[in-house]
Amino acid sequence: MKKLIFIIFCFSFFQTSCFVKYEKRKETIILNPYEDIDWGKVKRYKVNLHTHTTESDGKETPEKVISLYKLKNYFAIAITDHNKLTFPKSDIIFLIPGVEFGKNQQHHIVSLFSFNIPENIEKLNEEEILKYVDEKKGISFFAHPGRYKKNIDWYINLFERYKNLVGIEVLNTGIQTKGKVYGDTDIWDEILKKTMPERPVWGFGNDDFHNISQLAINWNILLIEKPEEDEIREGIKKGKFYTSSVILGTDLPNLKRIIVNKKTGEIKIDCENFEEIKWVSDGNIVGYGKELNYKRNENIKRYLRVEIHGKGGFIYLNPFGIK
Ligand SMILES: [Zn+2]
Repeated sequence: MKKLIFIIFCFSFFQTSCFVKYEKRKETIILNPYEDIDWGKVKRYKVNLHTHTTESDGKETPEKVISLYKLKNYFAIAITDHNKLTFPKSDIIFLIPGVEFGKNQQHHIVSLFSFNIPENIEKLNEEEILKYVDEKKGISFFAHPGRYKKNIDWYINLFERYKNLVGIEVLNTGIQTKGKVYGDTDIWDEILKKTMPERPVWGFGNDDFHNISQLAINWNILLIEKPEEDEIREGIKKGKFYTSSVILGTDLPNLKRIIVNKKTGEIKIDCENFEEIKWVSDGNIVGYGKELNYKRNENIKRYLRVEIHGKGGFIYLNPFGIK
């Protein structure tokens, strides 16, 4: 009898401790850039947001640049000449007004949807530029962060203060051809470690086109329903896009949909033609494969981001915030 009571006691203790342990892990996803996407309705728009022409240090005229991107099936590009707005009329491609701000020694900042160039641009520092873009209701992101040796706290401070500063250029052909083939993911992770889960920093992928060897290497796939300016702007601002790169070849994975089950904690990547899917949190790989459950993975800290690698191309998703 005593033995039976002891067994019942042990069993109920075991159950309670399991329950307590399960209850302790209450991770919730508080930020999902793909949350309100209807995968049945949404369309995919190929976009390059960093392009130079002969109006600054590019080798091709604006008209030639537009026709080159049209031939590569782009829906939109932003011509972003240095400290100058190049905005020709175009019937064949959607042009997003853009500028790349910054003098040589400064951290370059790409600004979109903000028309006037301030007269005293030569005198403005990075922070004043970001303030100006915020005031004009433009959108900004840091270009090729790997080119600079900025302290991570320098970025954090600016991300905390300027709400229209939405991301960094993780993929940039200039950086990638100088050795960092997979781009500036290290800097991205260091920033995300400190801003997430509340403050997202989106990862952009652009050609930084100067000549034809940099045509259609990296791009952003914008997930929106109507190709209208407001929706494009909101899509970029809210991170409804992912980046792709074919710097290693041409064979890109085919991403079909992203399914998040908030109840069970499962995130599923519906994808074809890939070799490996990596899940990254706080700079560490926390899982491989098409599925991951953030409620059951103890290594997940403040965010989760996904890399889909194929034979010649790879895709980076924007980060999810986990609390
Ligand atoms: Zn540039």
